[in-house]
Amino acid sequence: MEITFHGKRALVTGAGKGIGRDIAKKLVECGAETYALSRTQADLDTLKSEVPSMHIVLADLQDWDGSRKVIEQLGPIDLLVNNAGVGRNALFMEVKKEELDYVYDINVKSIVNVSQVCAKGMIERGTAGSIVNMSSIASSKALQEHTAYASSKAAVDMITKVMCLELGPHKIRVNAVNPTVVWTEMGKGTWSDPAKSGPLLARIPLNKFVEIEDVVNATLFLLSDKSAMVNGTCMLLEGGLSCS
Ligand code: NDP
Repeated sequence: MEITFHGKRALVTGAGKGIGRDIAKKLVECGAETYALSRTQADLDTLKSEVPSMHIVLADLQDWDGSRKVIEQLGPIDLLVNNAGVGRNALFMEVKKEELDYVYDINVKSIVNVSQVCAKGMIERGTAGSIVNMSSIASSKALQEHTAYASSKAAVDMITKVMCLELGPHKIRVNAVNPTVVWTEMGKGTWSDPAKSGPLLARIPLNKFVEIEDVVNATLFLLSDKSAMVNGTCMLLEGGLSCS
C-alpha cells in the first residue's frame, strides 16, 4: 500500500525528538510540505540539516497565545499531528498542582489550541483534512505514578471523539494513536528499569514494546486517504495487551 501526500501541507508538533521527529521525516519522504514544530532550537537545527526541505518552527506549546500566533502564520495545513507530550510521574498522594498544570497545558490544552487554528483554515478553505492526536495506552489503563499523564491521555481520547463529531461534517477526520512503551527519551525515562517494565511486558501477547516505526506507520495510515472511513478511532498499538 503506497501512501503519498503530494500537494499536502503537514504540521507535526513535538517534532524535535522521538516519535514526532520520525513522523515529520516520513511525511517529507511521502511528498508533504512539512512543518516540524518543537521548543528546542538545537533539535530543529539538526533536523533541518538532515532534511533540508523540512520547515522548522520554534514554539513552546505551553504558551497558548504565543504558540497560537506562530501557528496562525504557517498558512494552510491539511494534515496535523498533535504529537507533543510530556510526563511527570509521581504517586497520587504526591502530585503537585504545578505538575498537573504543566502536563495538561502541553498534552491536552495544546491539542485544542493547535487544532482550532488548523481546522479553522480547513473549514474556511472548504478542504478536507486529517488530524491525528498522540495518545497512549495510559488513557485506558491505570498505571502506577501516572495520575497526571494517564488522565491527560484519557482527555486526549475524548477530545478526539468530540473533534470527530464536530469536524466530520467539514470533511475533517480526527483519530488518535495509543501506543504502549516506545523507546524514545520519554519511554526510557519512565520504563528503563526492568522491574517496572517487566510486568507490563509480560502481559503483552506479542512480548515486545512498540517500535517508533510502528507509530509512524499507524499515524501515516490515519492521515492518508487509505483510512477514509476511519474517524474518531483511538487505535491501540499495544501488541494485544488489552486482551490479556
Ligand atoms: P520525546 O520526549 O522523545 O519527544 C517529545 C518531543 O516533544 C520533544 O521534541 C519535545 O521537545 C517536544 N515538546 C514537549 N513539550 C513541548 C512544548 N511545550 N512545545 C513544543 N514541543 C514540545 O517523546 P516521545 O517521542 O516518546 O513522545 C511523543 C508522544 O508520544 C507524546 O505525546 C507521548 O505522550 C506519546 N507516547 C509516548 C510513549 C513512549 O513510551 N515514548 C508511549 C505512548 C505515547 P523538548 O525535548 O525540547 O522538550
